[in-house]
Amino acid sequence: MPSVSSGQSTTAITAATRVFAVLGDPVAHSLSPVIQNAAIQGTGVDGVYVALRCGEGELHGVMTGLAQAGGGGNVTLPHKERAAALVEVPSDAVRRTGACNTFWMKDGRLHGDNTDVDGLRRGLREDPDVDVGDRRVLLLGAGGAGRAALMALLEEGAQEVVLLNRSVERARIVARRIGGVRTRVAMRWDEVKGQDFHLVVHATRLGLDPSDPLPVQLEELGTVDALVDVVYGRDPTRLVLRARELGLPARDGREMLLQQGAVAFERWWGRKAPLHLMREALTADGRRG
Ligand code: NAP
Repeated sequence: MPSVSSGQSTTAITAATRVFAVLGDPVAHSLSPVIQNAAIQGTGVDGVYVALRCGEGELHGVMTGLAQAGGGGNVTLPHKERAAALVEVPSDAVRRTGACNTFWMKDGRLHGDNTDVDGLRRGLREDPDVDVGDRRVLLLGAGGAGRAALMALLEEGAQEVVLLNRSVERARIVARRIGGVRTRVAMRWDEVKGQDFHLVVHATRLGLDPSDPLPVQLEELGTVDALVDVVYGRDPTRLVLRARELGLPARDGREMLLQQGAVAFERWWGRKAPLHLMREALTADGRRG
């Protein structure tokens, strides 16, 4: 059975309330209930958002149950790829990245999107230090977040994305599937050493645990203008702190989290998300933590 943990919600719950959930394992640490319940309360729509720990075998039943009842939700680690295979109407982002993080029902069919792609695009556009159009970008990581980042960077007009991943074979597959002619796979760190990049995007798992090694030696690169780390925790990641020490503007993955949540809210409710309220809730949660 899935087990439940919710963010705080003061909206009255009735039979008409739409129920949304983030499905993952583990999932209790997810900040999605915080930002989604802030958006629900701020806009006055009739909904509630909880976190449900869910095994792979339960995923299909829970997704369809929530969606058929008029709600929907998000999918997080480790189920995004499985969810992509389960939805009946995948978005272009789901088809290209092979990952689904948002689902809902429309016209009796289970729809899915990967809002990490548009979330990162919006985050990049709002970042005053970043303008990837016609620029070179170094992307570290070819997992789910790396694939979403590659699609986002190419759609934002990056001139060249150099993709470096621990498993070179995985990077090659991702470059073939998503990358096209503007993506180049680097076989090892030595190939990028000393090179200039407008932006470095970090999208591996390193940094989730504060004892993880730094995923990249920034000082071994040439000129770098900015860094985006998709990893986030309650405090800035070690990589973000290191970049700032070197004088680089740097952001962690909280902005991407907010923006992907805003896109998901818009898919479910058909209205603009109150980003400022979601941001305030995330900041307040960080202070409590
Ligand atoms: P994933 O699909 O499991 O991919 C993991 C990536 O990390 C792969 O590129 C993997 O390389 C690399 N990796 C793992 N261990 C490594 C190590 N010891 N040394 C070097 N590389 C290593 O995970 P994901 O879904 O992409 O998530 C990655 C991170 O992004 C997580 O921290 C997640 O929380 C974060 N994320 C944030 C947001 C947001 O909204 N901010 C959204 C999505 C994900 P190999 O291919 O060689 O295994």
